[in-house]
Amino acid sequence: MTDKKTLPTEVPTLYIVPTPIGNLGDITQRALDTLTNVDLIAAEDTRHTGKLLSHFGISTKTFALHDHNEQQKAQVLVEKLLAGYSIALVSDAGTPLISDPGYHLVTKCRQAGVKVVPLPGACAVVTALSASGLPSDRFSFEGFLPAKSKGRKDKFLEIAKAERTCIFYESPHRILDSLHDMLEILGAEREVVLARELTKTFETIQGLPLAKLVDWVKSDENQQRGEMALLVHGYRAVSDDSLPEEATRTLAILSKELPLKKAAALAAEIYNLKKNALYKWGLEHLD
Ligand code: SAM
Repeated sequence: MTDKKTLPTEVPTLYIVPTPIGNLGDITQRALDTLTNVDLIAAEDTRHTGKLLSHFGISTKTFALHDHNEQQKAQVLVEKLLAGYSIALVSDAGTPLISDPGYHLVTKCRQAGVKVVPLPGACAVVTALSASGLPSDRFSFEGFLPAKSKGRKDKFLEIAKAERTCIFYESPHRILDSLHDMLEILGAEREVVLARELTKTFETIQGLPLAKLVDWVKSDENQQRGEMALLVHGYRAVSDDSLPEEATRTLAILSKELPLKKAAALAAEIYNLKKNALYKWGLEHLD
């Protein structure tokens, strides 16, 4: 136990403390006060967090809590909390538990009646969404995309007709493969935003129809580097008179060789549109 007494609460508490996702200026005053005054900081990587702490002149002891030991070490931390310690949980960057360790610890704390206090702060999902220009009234965070193509395509099929904005984390060495898989399932016209290196020097937020975004990323290797999130516009049911020009042009070409029904079905598959809408358009516009 310590004699530090400046924390706002006397009861043993686990504080969830976000740290910057790039720009150190994004640490909050409350995060600094909490990290200074707790008895112990549970950190995903104690060396990484050590650098952050020394930058801010904080000397609080750290304890390693990462994906590989969390289930086992969470109990040790709960016991310390029950014995009167106050503990802060941090991850390498951003908000703990968001694609980062902490879930088991928080669950165990709540089960044991330990108070859990969350601090607001940096998080790549919300930072990206706020500047993406995509609808923000409904969104879901889908975590990291699966590493294998089959898993990714299944994931894209699962969200293909979702009307909410969907947000994924992706690693730079898979970005092109993932965008190709996305293009295959969601179609060329789906609007997607690549949010890269947020809060850092080379911050880039680029939103384009998917086919154009793939070309843009392909043509510039810099866009395949750094930390990134992908934000996908929700599915928009297309009314007959607002079909994308590219889709109706394809339908017109296909219908020269195929019955209209078949041509509409193919164009619908290519552009991820409703085949009835294309069929109706064909009846009205094509000979
Ligand atoms: N806990 C973090 C948060 O609150 O966002 C996320 C941790 S997760 C292990 C790391 C991933 O988050 C990166 O691979 C990237 O997809 C995303 N990310 C983190 N920082 C980012 C940044 N500055 N710009 C864009 N994406 C970022």
